[in-house]
This record gives sequence, C-alpha cells and structure tokens, in this order.
Amino acid sequence: MEPIEILRVSNLHTFLIDDLNKAYIVHDHNHINEPDALKRVVAIVGEGETKIDRKLLALMPNVKIISVFGAGYEGVDVHAAIERGIVVTHTPGVLNNDVADLAMGLLISVSRQIPQADRFVRAGDWVDGPYDLTKKLSAAKLGMVGLGRIGQAIAKRASAFDMKISYTARTPKAELPYLYYPSAKALAAEVDFLLAIVPGGPTTKAMINKEVFEALGPKGYFINVSSGSVVDQPALIKALQDKVIAGAGLDVYNDEPRISPEIRHLSNVVLTPHMASGTFETRRAMADLVLANLSAYFEGTKLPTPVPECQGLITK
Ligand code: NDP
Repeated sequence: MEPIEILRVSNLHTFLIDDLNKAYIVHDHNHINEPDALKRVVAIVGEGETKIDRKLLALMPNVKIISVFGAGYEGVDVHAAIERGIVVTHTPGVLNNDVADLAMGLLISVSRQIPQADRFVRAGDWVDGPYDLTKKLSAAKLGMVGLGRIGQAIAKRASAFDMKISYTARTPKAELPYLYYPSAKALAAEVDFLLAIVPGGPTTKAMINKEVFEALGPKGYFINVSSGSVVDQPALIKALQDKVIAGAGLDVYNDEPRISPEIRHLSNVVLTPHMASGTFETRRAMADLVLANLSAYFEGTKLPTPVPECQGLITK
C-alpha cells in the first residue's frame, strides 16, 4: 500500500506529532520542500482556529479529510470542504470536564479576586490593612450563553454552588431545569455573571457587544471560555475601563497569543492563555480522537466525531 501523506497546519503537541509520524508521512506547513508533495496530501491536521480556507484546499486536490484538534473549528471553511467532498472531524466531548473546571476557576477567581489577592500578599501590602471585600459567588445568578456539551458541564458544577442558572441558546431545552432567555442581552440584564460557551464563527461573531455589557451592568462580571470572536473586544475593553461592568475572566481573545496591552493593563480582569482543555489527560484524549478519526477514514469505518455539518456524509 502507498504511504499516506498528510499536512500539519498548526503547532501540535509532540506526542501527537510523534504518533502521526508513526502512521503517516507528515508534511509541516512551514517547511514544504517539495511543491508536488501538496498534490499527494490526502489529510490535513490542525487546530480549530487555524485557517483552512478555499484557497488552501485548492492547492491540495486530493485531500479527503480534515481532522481538527479541538472542539471548535471556526478556522475551517466547512462549506468549501464539503463542496470538494472533504469530511471534517473534531474532538468534542472529551474536553467538557476540563473546560468546565477552568470556567469555575475563572468564576471563583474573578468574584473572589484570587490573583489580585495573591499579588497583594506577595507585595507585602497586607501590613497596611486587610484586602477589600469581594463578591459572593455561591447562590449568585449565572447566565450561560450556550448550553451544549460544555455549557451543561459548567451548569452542573455551578448548581453545586447553589447558583441560579439561566441561559440563551438557539433553541430552548425543555428537558433542562434552567430558565431560557431569547437573547444574550435579555439574559445579561437578569444575571450577576454572564458566561459565554458558544462556538465561534459567523453566526456568533461579536454577539457579546456594548448593549450586552450595558445590560449586564456595573455589578456584573463576564467570563469567556468559548472563542475570542464571540466578543466585540473593543467594546469589552471600554466596558471594563469605564466600569460599565465590574470585571471579566478571559481564556480566549481576538488577538491571541498577542494580547492587546489594553487588556493586559486592566486590574479588573483575570486572564488565562486559552488553556481550558490544557491538561495532560485531556490533550492526550483529544490527540487519540484526531488519530481515531484519521484511521477510521482510511480503514473505511464509521468516523467517531465528524462535525455536525458532515454527519451523514458518505465519506468513501
Ligand atoms: P456544543 O455544540 O455542544 O454547544 C454549543 C452551544 O452553543 C449550544 O447550546 C448551541 O445552541 C449554542 N449556540 C450555537 N450557535 C449559537 C448562536 N448562533 N446563538 C446562540 N447560541 C448558539 O459545543 P461545545 O459545548 O462542545 O463547545 C462550545 C465551544 O467551546 C466550542 O465550539 C469552542 O469554541 C469552545 N471551546 C473552548 C475551549 C477553550 O480552551 N477555551 C476548549 C473547547 C471548546 P443549541 O443548544 O440551541 O444548539
């Protein structure tokens, strides 16, 4: 059998690259030494934010599968892929608990100001008096923008904190015991903490905007563990600078990994570097799903996790 050639378009964990190298000939997008190699490439592997567009796909006429390392896949032009008969897979589910854990960490850090208090102790400021009082999290109102796999894992944890949970999504979920609001703005007006966990992409672009921050108000906090693109970032920065909202906890940004100095200089934010799924265990499980989707495709068996747009597509 001819060796299978694939293209890696993102920096991936070494353990995944090693496993890919064991099974395939792997080309690195930064070092294509032989221009004809692209014509032999039948699979692309990369992170969900990496741009895989019509133009890139046109360079690789034989690509059959794009295996994304991540739950989100907003960088992939799925419609262009489907037009060319390419199936797209991702790695949902295995990261739900980690993302939910980090979301709770941000909620607690933002409300109780743990990083700021840590800096206060280290700076020796305690001798001048106690740290300011903070915002109570238990029993506060949490508004979820998105209540899918990860959103429900967050809601489960927040319920254990006696938080009152409400949400907005594309459709109400009658089977869940949470109150539905038809928009992020309507939801924001009713809650203490607004938490975004929707996919990125055109339908959610900048859905958390100036109006939503005004509705959340000066005692409200915003948490984003979804994608930087769902937020109008200049509006968020202004809302934080002008105290239109009380604070924010952010794992994702528009300009990552180069984060705007305006965000970095704010004192009312807690920032993490897009690490919500970043544990050894979960990144290994995600890598295993990337590999399982590739091998299922090449063996002609059922793909474990195609993206919703590709479910039901005949792939062989
Ligand atoms: P799901 O598809 O299970 O859930 C998505 C939720 O968002 C659903 O409730 C859906 O509504 C809602 N939604 C989708 N589009 C819209 C819209 N236009 N307006 C309002 N609500 C919308 O996804 P997951 O929970 O698995 O993942 C969500 C996202 O989290 C990923 O796409 C990714 O971007 C991000 N993520 C971030 C990570 C990080 O490291 N920070 C790690 C992993 C994921 P409905 O239920 O009605 O369909």
